[in-house]
Amino acid sequence: MAIETDAQTSPVEHEAQETIALRRPDVPVTLAELAARKGEAIEILEARIEILRMLHKAALRAIAPEDVLLFKSPDEQGGQITGYLQDCGAERVRDFFGIEIFGVSAPEKILTNDPAVFHYIIRGSGRCKLTRQTIEAVEGGRSSTDDFCKDKKGAELELAVRKAARANLDGRIVRELAGLSNISAEDLRQAWEGTSKKLEQCRRGRGFGTRSERLGATSEKAPDVDPPVCAHCGTTGVYRPATDKRRAFYGCPKWDSHKDKKFIVDAEKWVADQAKRAPAESGGTPADRQGPPERSDPPITADQVFVKRDRDPGEEG
Ligand SMILES: [Zn+2]
Repeated sequence: MAIETDAQTSPVEHEAQETIALRRPDVPVTLAELAARKGEAIEILEARIEILRMLHKAALRAIAPEDVLLFKSPDEQGGQITGYLQDCGAERVRDFFGIEIFGVSAPEKILTNDPAVFHYIIRGSGRCKLTRQTIEAVEGGRSSTDDFCKDKKGAELELAVRKAARANLDGRIVRELAGLSNISAEDLRQAWEGTSKKLEQCRRGRGFGTRSERLGATSEKAPDVDPPVCAHCGTTGVYRPATDKRRAFYGCPKWDSHKDKKFIVDAEKWVADQAKRAPAESGGTPADRQGPPERSDPPITADQVFVKRDRDPGEEG
C-alpha cells in the first residue's frame, strides 16, 4: 500500500496512521484491503463519503444562478427539474476538486460550405487529484453560429469560437470529474439556503415550454395566474389543457354537486384579464425586471425572471 509512514513507528501506530490516511478520498484502496480491516472499513468508507458529500455541497454553494440552466422532464415522466452547469460555472468549482486538465490538442477547425459557418473542436484529458479519477480524450467544441458570436467577424470571430471551444472542453472535463453533469434542483436549493441565490434566478431551458406557453392556454401546465373561483360553490377552479376539440379552460372540481349550473372559464381570456388587472406585475421592459423586487412587492414570478429565449445545453451566451 502506498502510504508513507514514519519508519520508526510501531506496527500498531503504523496501522493507526494507515487507517487515518485511508479516509482521504485520494488514497487508493481496494475492497480486499478494506475487508481485511473489518469494522474500520465502514469508518473509512463513511469518512470518504462524507468528504465527497461536503465537497459537493460546497461546490454547489459556490455556483451562481447565472451558471445554471434548468431543464424539466415531461410531466408524465415526473417533471423533475435538473440543473446543467454551464462552462462558466464549471470554472468556478474546478479548484474545489483539484481538477487538472492536460494533453490538450491544438484546436481543429471544421469548415462548411458557408465561410461564415465553422466549428472548432479540441480534445484533452483531465484528472481529479482528490478522487484520482482520470478521463481521457474528451472533446469540446463550439460553432461560429453560437449566440455569443452574434456581433463578431473576421479574426475576432475566430478567436471567440476557439476560446469558447477550449472553455467547453474544460467544462466537460470538470462536470464529469466533479460529478456535476446533472444537478438535482433540490440539491441546489438546499445548498443555496441562507444565500441570496434562488433557483428562480436560473435560466430555463428545454421542458419549460416557450414563454407564451408558460403564460397562455395551449400548455399542459396551468398558467402562472390565480385560477378563477366557481360562481356556484366557491371552489377554486381547476385548469384543463386544450385538446384537438376544445380550448383550454377552467372548470369546477365539484361540478358534480351542481350539474345544472355549469362553470367554465376560457383560460386564455382569463389569463389576459389577469394581466390587465395587474399591469404593475406584468408590465415593464425586461431591463426593469432584472433588479431585485422591493420588499413590499408581490413575490417575483418565474415569468418576470425568465425573459430570455430558451436554450439548450452547450448554448451559452
Ligand atoms: Zn362549483
